Amino acid sequence: MDLRISFIGLGAMGWHMAGHLVKTGHQVWVANRTAEKAQKHAKHFQTQAVSMQQAVQADFIFSCFPTSADVETFIAQNPPKQGSIWIDCTSGVPQAAQRLSQSLQQQGVMYLDAPVSGQTVGAEKGTLTVMVGGSADAFQRAKPIIDAFAGLTAYVGESGAGFSVKAVNNTLMATHLWALAEGLTMLKALDVDLNAALNCINASSGQSSMSQNIMAQRVLNRSFPKTFALNLLQKDIGIATNLAEEHALNLDVFHLVAEKFNLTETPHATHVDFSVAVQCLEKQSQLQLS
Ligand code: NDP
Repeated sequence: MDLRISFIGLGAMGWHMAGHLVKTGHQVWVANRTAEKAQKHAKHFQTQAVSMQQAVQADFIFSCFPTSADVETFIAQNPPKQGSIWIDCTSGVPQAAQRLSQSLQQQGVMYLDAPVSGQTVGAEKGTLTVMVGGSADAFQRAKPIIDAFAGLTAYVGESGAGFSVKAVNNTLMATHLWALAEGLTMLKALDVDLNAALNCINASSGQSSMSQNIMAQRVLNRSFPKTFALNLLQKDIGIATNLAEEHALNLDVFHLVAEKFNLTETPHATHVDFSVAVQCLEKQSQLQLS
């Protein structure tokens, strides 16, 4: 069947994800707020750059924007084609997914919340984890297409469940980063070689993706390359703590992590990598992790 797939939002993640969709063999349309990026994408990946108005006429429409508010505003201004499936790869708010799912259903459109994990390197390699909430039937139809950029495409429940899992995942990631930074700060104070310590931790039970990748490749080498903006991680932690509050759950560690990451709130949080959060601890302890 000749399907048309579109991808809107060719940012740090969307750029690569949209590129992988070409592997499906279907026609792939790309659209972006800054339209030149879509033109560049078309040249690079043999996709087709289209207007926003055309992009929402595809059979499967992907979005990957910073926030749910961006997606809700966009959809209100660009109503999608009847019969289409909207796959929202934004890390968003569960209640927004439920609202969008209900309102789009009235227009004959199925909405899936399908946030991704795996950083830009996972997007580039096509090995992302995609956690999907919404109609199980729409999931079955969309899965073979999502698989083009995924290592794992998993159905996790009703509308909003994908966003909830993603918020928990990213709060865990922030927790691991902060706890690791605290541990290394102590070892620095004790004059232990941090690279040697990290090697041991990575071969031991305290390891995580933060110890295996982020600490050595971004913090200890002082490079802090921006691939995932700090303000986007702050947003994800906020989604998780709001959910906890709405359900009257007293999640001490999550709230503490939110507090720590809000301490790092700076006007330039949009422009720096999330790993820069560690510099706040460095400032407090007056010890640099290097
Ligand atoms: P970027 O800021 O790199 O890209 C955002 C994209 O959305 C750009 O294409 C931008 O267009 C477009 N955009 C922004 N605002 C609007 C708007 N109001 N209307 C239409 N288009 C808009 O973000 P990322 O790719 O890093 O992140 C996207 C989502 O994926 C976020 O929800 C993030 O939390 C999540 N995520 C990010 C990861 C990462 O490592 N970066 C990892 C996993 C999830 P323009 O080019 O014009 O600015």
